[in-house]
Amino acid sequence: ARLSRVTKAETTCNYCAVGCRFDLYGKDGEVLGVRPADEDATPANNFSTCVKGKFGYDFVNSPNRLKTPLIREGDEFREATWGEALDRIHEELSRIREENGDDAIAVTSSSKCTNEENYLAQKFARQVLHTKHVDNCARLCHSSTVVGLQQTVGYGAMTNRINEDIGKTDCYLITGSNTTESHPVLATRIKQNVRDGADLFVFDPREIGLAEHATQYTRTKPGEDIAWLNGMIRHIIDNDLHDRGFIEERTKHFDQLKEKVEPFTPAKVEELTGVPEDELIHAAETIATADTCIFGWAMGMTQHAHGTRNVLAVANLALVTGNLGKPRAGLSPFRGQNNVQGGGGDMGPAPHTLPGYQDLTDDAILDKFEESWGVRPPNEIGLRLPEQYDAMEEGHIKGMFIMGENPVLSEPDIRGAEKAIEKLEFLAVQDIFLTETAEFADVVLPAASAAEKHGTFTNTERRIQRVRPAVSPPRKAKPDLEILSDLANRFGFEWDYDGPADVMAEINDLVPIYGGVTYDRLESTPEGLQWPCEDESDPGTPYLYKKEFNFEDGKARFVPADYAGPVELPDEEFPLMLTSGRVLYHWHTGTMTRRVNVLMDHVPESFVTIHPEMADELGVTDDEYVRVVSRRGDIVTKANVEETSDPGVVFIPMHFAHGAINELTQHELDPTSFIPEYKVTSVRIQPL
Ligand code: SF4
Repeated sequence: ARLSRVTKAETTCNYCAVGCRFDLYGKDGEVLGVRPADEDATPANNFSTCVKGKFGYDFVNSPNRLKTPLIREGDEFREATWGEALDRIHEELSRIREENGDDAIAVTSSSKCTNEENYLAQKFARQVLHTKHVDNCARLCHSSTVVGLQQTVGYGAMTNRINEDIGKTDCYLITGSNTTESHPVLATRIKQNVRDGADLFVFDPREIGLAEHATQYTRTKPGEDIAWLNGMIRHIIDNDLHDRGFIEERTKHFDQLKEKVEPFTPAKVEELTGVPEDELIHAAETIATADTCIFGWAMGMTQHAHGTRNVLAVANLALVTGNLGKPRAGLSPFRGQNNVQGGGGDMGPAPHTLPGYQDLTDDAILDKFEESWGVRPPNEIGLRLPEQYDAMEEGHIKGMFIMGENPVLSEPDIRGAEKAIEKLEFLAVQDIFLTETAEFADVVLPAASAAEKHGTFTNTERRIQRVRPAVSPPRKAKPDLEILSDLANRFGFEWDYDGPADVMAEINDLVPIYGGVTYDRLESTPEGLQWPCEDESDPGTPYLYKKEFNFEDGKARFVPADYAGPVELPDEEFPLMLTSGRVLYHWHTGTMTRRVNVLMDHVPESFVTIHPEMADELGVTDDEYVRVVSRRGDIVTKANVEETSDPGVVFIPMHFAHGAINELTQHELDPTSFIPEYKVTSVRIQPL
């Protein structure tokens, strides 16, 4: 008998956007294990990954993977051929377009998929279906980061590198990021550098793991960040600690900022937020006098109805202290999903921008796309993801194609989202499992996982890295690229891409910031290329804004952030503030990690963290099941009694289908980025 061979693929992690590289081993269609990259790996995960990277790949081998297309018949699915499934999608979407117009259909793409697949998903929407409604999960995590940074510095992306800048800075302000749980290898770099003498300030409502290593941990109130950020800026200016040279040479509108922050004295900040005056002053003065500082944040800052203003306030603080355009400093949004920077942002599956953040109302840009695609993309801004669910509820959107997303768990107020999905005339879902969302579909298409295909991911530091297959997809499952191509061809188009390198060649032509990112170059630069990388002679851009900011006049803008607090405040009926986040052992809606035994052994179910004083008051003990109730719904989950936050603040992770936090959260949107207010919800807790 012939012995089967062990295969090795040099690839990139499919969980978080740190983008750790490793060798993935496979044999006989099963992933065997992971060996972290060990030679000058960037982003330097030398000999280390986190537990998800190392042990989180069993989902690829799951017997529950989708292996064949499925078509709904009544309440059941039946197995179908690819021909039947694609014909059904073509027929139904064509009928809906004929009866209701192009914009009766919406397309959702996913940051879990490669850059090439996300580029094709938005092309499928704009060229094939000619709808303006295309969006992706980045809307729900860092859309406020993108908008806030575009307004102040130009690009909606991390300005700096992980190793050379975050790993070597003199000082950190980390806020709204549980970095040790959500971006573990990046957190290790921070902890190592703090051990070597860097200052670390953690401002967060919860005493997260990183707080143990901090120079100062300051407890904040959920949703009250603009006040303390404006207070820091005011104190710095008031004490002449701002970087006058940088402000004069490289920025605009400083006077407007100065005026806006004037009311935020340390005493006023303490009154509004509970942040002690002395802690605010110590952090502000240390940050302002450090040679370099990194400002790191995640969804604790972004997922608010004033998320964009939060980001503006952080950007203003970085600008006022001159911490941009130089090594070891910068604005560092810790993007969540593995490919949210590239797939969710750069590739343009968003209703307000074409790939590469190009203006979809600009005729010259539309001409360029039309010349390549043979179809002019819609030139109006479409509906953002949460707005699409309103339009579905109202009957304006009647058909939907979802690639790799699970909105039945990830949308806010999921009972409302479920009702909206039930109103669709047709839903097609392309995924690797029969997710909670796929259960609602009319047609389900089986996709390949990241361990089974070629492509590229772009990590949180704008680094484009290769993804390679260690095994083949199960039975009839196919890479998203092939499925989208087959589907486009069903609609009469001629997509004949010879693999992802060929798609990247089209991206090179149409997306200037990816102009020089070819597969040939990526083969010879295993550490990847950081955009902007405009042509083949461009080595890429390790840190942004060395000479000028991304505006015509080259100057950054101070955009003052008006103070705003949470939409819902505790009251008699709902006296507790619920906030949300991740845990180390799980990822997003858990479609992958809930199918990995070693991760489920650690955290098998949803829980609510309650302060011991509050638990006493409620008559609740550790490990007891409780009911958590908000204005939208109620869930049953397990009490985890621990002292990580104020007694009035409770926490539930976002990863579980039973005890799903989004049964409770609200559909209030940030007016600029349309990100929902996930992070603050008023609830009550009842013993069962
Ligand atoms: Fe993967 Fe992120 Fe863990 Fe690295 S830190 S192994 S990229 S999940």
